[in-house]
Amino acid sequence: MRRLSIFGATGSVGEQTVDLILRAGGPRTYRTVAVTGGQNVTRLAQIARELRAEIAVTADPARLDDLRTALRGSETQAAAGPAAMLEAADRPADWVMSAIVGAAGLAPGFRALRHGSTLALANKESLVTAGPLLLAEAARHGARILPVDSEHSAIFQALGADPVDRVERMILTASGGALRDWPLDRLAQATVADAGRHPNWAMGQRITIDSASMFNKAMEVIETREFFGIDPARIEVVIHRESIVHSMVAFRDGAVMAHMGSPDMRHAIGYALNWPERLSLPVAPLDLPALGRLTFEAPDEARYPALPLAREAMRIRGLAGAAFNAGKERALDHFLAGRIGFMAMAGVVEAVLTTLSSDGSLQNDARALEDVLAMDHLARIRADEAVAAGAAAR
Ligand code: NDP
Ligand code: MG
Repeated sequence: MRRLSIFGATGSVGEQTVDLILRAGGPRTYRTVAVTGGQNVTRLAQIARELRAEIAVTADPARLDDLRTALRGSETQAAAGPAAMLEAADRPADWVMSAIVGAAGLAPGFRALRHGSTLALANKESLVTAGPLLLAEAARHGARILPVDSEHSAIFQALGADPVDRVERMILTASGGALRDWPLDRLAQATVADAGRHPNWAMGQRITIDSASMFNKAMEVIETREFFGIDPARIEVVIHRESIVHSMVAFRDGAVMAHMGSPDMRHAIGYALNWPERLSLPVAPLDLPALGRLTFEAPDEARYPALPLAREAMRIRGLAGAAFNAGKERALDHFLAGRIGFMAMAGVVEAVLTTLSSDGSLQNDARALEDVLAMDHLARIRADEAVAAGAAAR
């Protein structure tokens, strides 16, 4: 029986993974090793029971007692904290879903590669912050990384067996997010509720706001560069309001392969779960005549300053991806807390990149995960300083 673990099981991607596993027979089909979550220990315990997981881990040690209580009488062991998270990743599994949100997802996914299993990677932060290390670790242990981000799953599928040197461009589609039709001069006033309503996809709150600012797309551009090893100049972003084309690969002979489907993450999760098979999935079939038309537009970089910032991070490379992500995560924390406006998030990330590149600390390559985590820590401090220095003006 295939053994699997789900990191971030209580989140949006995690829940959809659990849904697919249950539909496929749950514990009759798969042996679940570990499931992990953060604050929502009630739901984590339910998932653990449904899948008959060996161990359930909450990231927060203060939630351990509640988790234990919720698991009473079940076959699942309870644990908490970062060390327990890594210990869960050390338990051999054939397939591991990495769906923790943020930089916290990096270490467990990295660790799971050690047993040479398949890592289904939703946590894009892993590639953005530590792409070269992650790929090297996978190669060292003969592990495989399958992309779960819908754009990268689409490109992976459109690419097929063709090597990347046959590719002229990779074209990432973006919905444009919740504020795509707002006048540019009103964006600075957008609230958390305004930015948190995605037009097409149902996702976690943080990634939904990152979609409105296109920090999500900016991260995905870096993710594309790292995962597929393509020159950043060959990565294009187009706004595609309908979210039907999930991304495209343009080959040098002019052929463009597009991956299409309804906007449902279970496409990409199911593809990674069943790979190299294609099994039927509970996703709505496309009704092309009902859709009528598909549209594409170039993004306006004044509206989406995250896009040129990602290009700057890729130009610097080294530890710039780690600084970019940490700066973005902190800027989002400050936006969620009402301390800065929507458009100020890009200003914070820009300040982080500028400050850290002036003293040369960004240009160095990461030799180990510790270098990435140290840069993550430093960039958060710089982001807080930028907010303290400029918040009143925004
Ligand atoms: P959610 O916010 O919905 O879920 C995040 C998960 O991580 C939850 O299980 C949460 O636990 C857990 N978690 C939160 N903080 C920590 C922490 N510090 N340590 C350990 N676990 C933690 O996120 P999404 O499912 O939306 O996104 C997950 C990842 O997948 C992200 O990297 C995102 O960019 C990527 N992704 C998501 C897509 C989507 O459709 N949602 C699409 C493509 C990529 P709890 O809720 O119990 O606190
Ligand atoms: Mg995506």
